[in-house]
Amino acid sequence: MKAPVRNSGRGALFLELYNIMDKKIIIPTAALVLLAGILITVWIFMKNAEVKDPAAEIRLNGRVIRTVPLSEDCEFTVECESGYNTVRVQNGEISVVSADCPDKVCVKTGAISGGNVPIVCLPHRLEIVIINLENDTDART
Ligand SMILES: [Zn+2]
Repeated sequence: MKAPVRNSGRGALFLELYNIMDKKIIIPTAALVLLAGILITVWIFMKNAEVKDPAAEIRLNGRVIRTVPLSEDCEFTVECESGYNTVRVQNGEISVVSADCPDKVCVKTGAISGGNVPIVCLPHRLEIVIINLENDTDART
């Protein structure tokens, strides 16, 4: 009859030991989770920061003919064999303001400032893609 008492005593001791171990495990785990949270936040912030300084690549027939930073307002006309597209950079956005293509899809697309949706003018084979100026060389190699 003494055995169960001894067992329960051991059990309590083990329980205490587990509690100490738990604390020793919980604290580093909590620290790791916190660190991971901070890293994720920094990573998201950096990802956002990357998109904050974008540029636009003007491609004609798949070839880059011009790269313009969206931080500087400008307006220029891209001429090709079948016509022209007037491109405007304003307030960190780029748009085709006028074109002599038949469908005017490029003009209707409106202004873009980021994301993966480019401005495309199919009749003129013109494409305006938002890129990151800093990572441009990395993406190219
Ligand atoms: Zn067009």
